[in-house]
Amino acid sequence: MRVVVLGSAAGGGFPQWNCACPNCSKLRAGSLRSQARSQAQVVVCAATRESYLLNSSPDLRSQILSTPSLAPTRPPRDTPIAGVILTSADVDSVAGLLDLREFQPLHIYATVSIRRILQEENRIFRVLDRASPPAVWHDTALNTWFPLGATPSLNTEASLRCCIVPLGGAYPDYVSDGLRRSLPPFEAVAGLLLAQGGKQFFYAPALSGRSEEWKEAARSSDLCMLDGTFWSDKELIATGVGSKTAREIGHLPLSGTGGLLEQFAPSKRGRAVLIHINNTNPVLDEDSPEHREVRDAGWEIAYDGMEIEL
Ligand SMILES: [Zn+2]
Repeated sequence: MRVVVLGSAAGGGFPQWNCACPNCSKLRAGSLRSQARSQAQVVVCAATRESYLLNSSPDLRSQILSTPSLAPTRPPRDTPIAGVILTSADVDSVAGLLDLREFQPLHIYATVSIRRILQEENRIFRVLDRASPPAVWHDTALNTWFPLGATPSLNTEASLRCCIVPLGGAYPDYVSDGLRRSLPPFEAVAGLLLAQGGKQFFYAPALSGRSEEWKEAARSSDLCMLDGTFWSDKELIATGVGSKTAREIGHLPLSGTGGLLEQFAPSKRGRAVLIHINNTNPVLDEDSPEHREVRDAGWEIAYDGMEIEL
């Protein structure tokens, strides 16, 4: 399988339209050794032409347009994008579904709770049902492998398969109290294991740190892309752009006691990549000591256009 990073930043992108933090200001001024990044979006291309989007970012339309391998090839309408797998109901994970509304049949995989939030409380997503056939929603069980595709098979190693790993985060603020009370907390935020041809990829752009299951998934994979949102727990407070800690909004920071760098050491066997990087994170500055520290620890830092063949 081929893993392509279409977007590598956290919500807001880099630079963020209304942000004058040091990183965003210096990037605009051309005085930062770094590059602009759109909001986190990954696509997995199977050995067949079929591709699956991991979430649907608010930047999805421009991300698809800037990726030649995702262009249609057969008139009148065509796409290699067979479906979308959702890790949460956050705006950053689902807004791009509205870009996919152009009468295109799709498979959408999500936990029951994520589907209920989108279908029951946010009727705008019913626009996906205009396609013929309409979008097919697949309720996914946790910790269970399931095949992807129109003619799925779990029997061959050649088929692309997925497993949803619960990560213990929270539902988005916009969900009503009534619905929230009826949803099991463990279906709120997931990581995705994808496997094909004896290779395995683990994608977890939001690690709350409230569960340990991600560690085994990351360790056993040939490639893991993990939550690189914040360098420090108080980053939003220190930069004056927010009042909550990283952990309070569901992201384990990279540094400090119990941070991601302390909890997980990249192995020589698999590649470890940080993704979903917030524009305030000093690792975006390639001349910073924080950037050097994560690179020295064996991590790669995702950028838009990064491609990894497994
Ligand atoms: Zn900023």
